[in-house]
Amino acid sequence: MTTREINQGRKCIKWGYGHCPHCHSAFKVNQDAVRFFMRHHGDAVLFMLCPACESVYDSSTQQERSDLQNACLDNIKNCTGNRSQFACTTLLTVAINHGDYAAALENGIGSVDRSTYEQLIRSDEALIFANGALVHWERLPDAMSTPNSQASGDEQNLN
Ligand SMILES: [Zn+2]
Repeated sequence: MTTREINQGRKCIKWGYGHCPHCHSAFKVNQDAVRFFMRHHGDAVLFMLCPACESVYDSSTQQERSDLQNACLDNIKNCTGNRSQFACTTLLTVAINHGDYAAALENGIGSVDRSTYEQLIRSDEALIFANGALVHWERLPDAMSTPNSQASGDEQNLN
């Protein structure tokens, strides 16, 4: 894989494939490939690794894992082409795509524009999606704590 091919973006990748943020090799993305995540406001950015880097990561020490994570971030930051090629998505995007990681990578968050997305992840009184429609979500009272009553749904098992 040459840099030029990588920089052409998603067009040169097969559907459901992404580039490993560590070694740039293309691989078929799936939930099991997620090795680490970063919080991003109310969302979490999920990083998937190719099978080779996955096994390196799994057998690494905490420090080595941290170094590998930083290398991934540097690769993404230094990418001059289309960053959507990387095998990274967000928890919200996966939920919107019914738990399908390949669809999350391909479709993103569909018709949601950037400012709507920013609203979604930043606001305490956020918007949520119910059957494709945006619904205002009232903030839950801080003081209330009834165990299990407000457990978040497991949206990844919708399909
Ligand atoms: Zn890799």
